[in-house]
Amino acid sequence: MTRRVSIFGSTGSIGCNTVELVAAGGPAYKVVALTGGRNVAKLAEQARALRPEIAVTADEGSLAALRDALAGTGVEVAAGAQAIVEAAHRPADWVMSAIVGAAGLPPGLVAAGQGATLALANKESLVTAGPLLMATARAAGTRILPVDSEHSAIFQALVGEDIAAVERIIITASGGAFRDWPAEKLATATLAQASSHPNWAMGQRITIDSASLFNKALELIETKEYFGVDPARIEAVIHPESLVHALVGFVDGALMAHVGPPDMRHAIGFALNWPERRALPVERLDLAKIGQLTFRAPDEGRYPALRLAREVMAQGGLYGAAFNAAKEAALDAFIEGRIGFVEMAGVVEDVLEKMTDERRMNAAITLDRVWETDHVARIRANELILARHGQG
Ligand code: NAD
Ligand code: MG
Repeated sequence: MTRRVSIFGSTGSIGCNTVELVAAGGPAYKVVALTGGRNVAKLAEQARALRPEIAVTADEGSLAALRDALAGTGVEVAAGAQAIVEAAHRPADWVMSAIVGAAGLPPGLVAAGQGATLALANKESLVTAGPLLMATARAAGTRILPVDSEHSAIFQALVGEDIAAVERIIITASGGAFRDWPAEKLATATLAQASSHPNWAMGQRITIDSASLFNKALELIETKEYFGVDPARIEAVIHPESLVHALVGFVDGALMAHVGPPDMRHAIGFALNWPERRALPVERLDLAKIGQLTFRAPDEGRYPALRLAREVMAQGGLYGAAFNAAKEAALDAFIEGRIGFVEMAGVVEDVLEKMTDERRMNAAITLDRVWETDHVARIRANELILARHGQG
């Protein structure tokens, strides 16, 4: 039977890997929607190969270029954030949510309400609106499958298990680009240095978030929201080899580890093939050659992001939305050269301290409230950055 699939963020790192696996499946899949950002050439190339019903660019200024590139193919074209949300309303059996950042939430929420299968790479939608996303999926009968190496690993370790028998969940962190740098040197870290990951090939934003451990911070919250476990039972450990992705500890003391090469095609393919397992084009590990696996505790003094994630999990409500937006604004500022690498965490911490209107922050999570909180947090972050550095 042909499965109808849509890929949101198809031109990114996760998106391109998803396109590759779907293309390899040939007639098993009918592509409904592909969406991208400014890289219209890549989006058009994918659309020519996969012939979706519609190709959408987030950038309204790129609509004419996309239309030209797909002339004569019969593929519909559209542009803008609203067009992406509309594409999410088109019925599909399997939807990949792989837009980066909070921008992935609106189409992700629509897909969660469709009653099909949602492969969720966009961890920001769980961080900003976890309870809303999970409740929307539950009400619609949508199965959400995590597409983050750690969360796919946890999901796989839990097959056939009772969540009540889980004592702890451990997610691993490579430690990112600066794991072996002395703490004093971090202030000198450049954009190019932060954008190069020792083990994984990923989009630039998540690569920098790996170096600051903000990615692991988002993933602690993602674990809490997706699996519904008490934050006190969730740990992160540094594992430089990136071969063990997560471990689940049970009440009888057993630890089930998921081991595999650092290749997102595993988690993507697992979600695509679920509930079956099929052959995937990933490396098979030679354990004797690898020889040893090492682990060490993260230094929370060096990585304030982990401590901030614990505070956000304790507060709940809209703090996740504020945290994510402040992090995105600080990351933008680092990428644009407006602040240094170690300043990002300070900006996020200061924004959280400013957003303490309890009634507002603890109101029920709705898309409007998430958006308003996101907006305010970005403004606060940019005010703080300007106050520290001025216009230049
Ligand atoms: P990426 O930057 O490579 O790609 C992002 C995609 O989103 C692109 O298609 C881009 O055009 C699109 N996009 C960007 N801004 C947009 C906007 N405002 N509106 C609509 N579309 C927009 O990112 P990535 O590394 O593939 O990551 C995608 C998501 O998957 C992120 O949430 C990330 O945290 C998560 N994730 C990625 C990896 C990985 O290996 N890359 C692993 C785990 C989780
Ligand atoms: Mg991950």
